[in-house]
Amino acid sequence: MKMSTSVQVVWFKRDLRCVDHAALAAAAKAGPVLALYVIEPNYWQLSDTSNRQWMFVRDALVDLQQQLAALGGQLWLAHGHVLEALSELHQVLPQFVLHSHQEHGNLWTFKRDQAVGRFCRGHQLTWHEYPQFGVVRPVQRRVGRFHEHWFDWMQQAQQTLPEHIAFVPPAWLESTSLRPLTIELLPTNLGTDAYLLRSRQQGGRREGLALLESFLTRRSERYRGSISSPLTAVSSCSRLSPYLAYGCLSLKEIVQATESSRAKTVPIHWRKSLADFSQRLWWHCYFIQRFESNHRMEFQALVPATDKLPRPFDAERFAAWQHGRTGWPMVDACMRYLHVHGWINFRMRAMLVSAATYSLSLPWRPVAEWLAQLFVDYEPGIHFPQVQMQSGHAGNSILRIYNPVMQAQKLDPQGQFVRRWVPELRSIDAMWLFEPWLMPVHLKQQQGIDYPLPLVDFELAHRQLKNDVSQLRKEHDLRPARGFNERRSRTGSRSRSRSRKNAPPDNQLSLFD
Ligand SMILES: Cc1cc2nc3c(=O)[nH]c(=O)nc-3n(C[C@H](O)[C@H](O)[C@H](O)COP(=O)(O)OP(=O)(O)OC[C@H]3O[C@@H](n4cnc5c(N)ncnc54)[C@H](O)[C@@H]3O)c2cc1C
Repeated sequence: MKMSTSVQVVWFKRDLRCVDHAALAAAAKAGPVLALYVIEPNYWQLSDTSNRQWMFVRDALVDLQQQLAALGGQLWLAHGHVLEALSELHQVLPQFVLHSHQEHGNLWTFKRDQAVGRFCRGHQLTWHEYPQFGVVRPVQRRVGRFHEHWFDWMQQAQQTLPEHIAFVPPAWLESTSLRPLTIELLPTNLGTDAYLLRSRQQGGRREGLALLESFLTRRSERYRGSISSPLTAVSSCSRLSPYLAYGCLSLKEIVQATESSRAKTVPIHWRKSLADFSQRLWWHCYFIQRFESNHRMEFQALVPATDKLPRPFDAERFAAWQHGRTGWPMVDACMRYLHVHGWINFRMRAMLVSAATYSLSLPWRPVAEWLAQLFVDYEPGIHFPQVQMQSGHAGNSILRIYNPVMQAQKLDPQGQFVRRWVPELRSIDAMWLFEPWLMPVHLKQQQGIDYPLPLVDFELAHRQLKNDVSQLRKEHDLRPARGFNERRSRTGSRSRSRSRKNAPPDNQLSLFD
């Protein structure tokens, strides 16, 4: 690309790194670079975002500033709506070119990006958007291409930066409200948090790389077989999700590092673990692709007829579930763990959704919002399709109902996890630990056990649910609309073989059994 004098504005969003960064690489080759991050208070007030997510981003911004400083530049900070920052820039740099990654976010960021598009068109400014995942956009070109695209994209070389990058001199921005990032300019309370995090993953590339290293060299050995129990998942899972969600590491670099480790690994069980992990990285994009195909999924059931299931909002049940007082010890333990860690493993996320929607008959939307807030790694493109899938709104052929007693018996057989997170039951006899409602009342009183009874009878609730679903099936087609179901829209022999290898998403839980 020919070097021009137009300033190249790199708008960092959920891509907080300099390595394998397509927007920065293209901008650096085109002209003087202005690295920009906009703190958007309205975004951090949404019902699916939270301060715990912001605090992770805050760490990552400090780390990004250090990465840019090492390249001779700095990160410029604006506060408010991105259009205000762009308008200001347009006053002093009328010909700037905008670069950013393609975002697969929630409705708020989608509309914001539409507004940015209109602004650029209205001011004859060019905006280049670059993919950062193996997701195909625009969606119209997607059918039959996702699988090929993903594997081809992951094999491509990572983006590299020129040896020398010209950054805009600070004097050019003197008359604007933009400021070079300093820690003092980063608030600590942008969003809300119902619970304080007791331990949180620190944001930034350095932390992400350390995790990737420890995972590939040690922890991944037990990935297969250890990721379902909340006791072992905490160290056997990669824990890379927030680093992917905010782009501290690139997906491609993780995929390539994993493949290279797999090629060097001799023990067969370890190789299988790494293969399972690679598959999760494919799922990452698969779900985002699904969301990209139908972003209405954030608000509407993928199979609209499933909204007819009787799931009225019940404030008392919802509050009990939210705050870990359902009376099902494994469910409450997981929710309370999530409150203070901001992360829990896949199986337990699925169980929390199952308990709320299948067992307590709560509607999926408030459930999705509450969990989104609690997850530091909130990724709309994974989150909404997963919540819909785990609550029976995505056209699943089988209802995957998690029985909290069986999950506890299987995944926490000694009861350490439940006793740790439900201290009301710390001293209860093991025979009652997972089913305290069966304990005679006089014994409870004698032992001072003060723990709520389940809000519904699990067996009865599910018998009713199965009746409701089979009735609904008689009256409606409960398969997702054509175009949402990857298996029905795929063509070509290569994609068929890939699909078998990666397992259809409806069957994904089999891998966790
Ligand atoms: C109801 C529900 C909501 C979820 N919401 C989110 C979310 O907001 N953000 C998020 O990153 N993940 C979400 N997941 C998927 C999964 O639970 C997390 O990605 C995983 O627990 C993160 O921990 P890890 O990085 O250690 O996972 P690992 O097992 O080490 O997996 C590595 C990466 O693969 C991807 N991945 C793993 N499992 C899945 C999956 N089932 N579907 C799609 N991608 C996957 C993630 O990017 C993850 O970081 C959700 C799952 C459920 C059931």
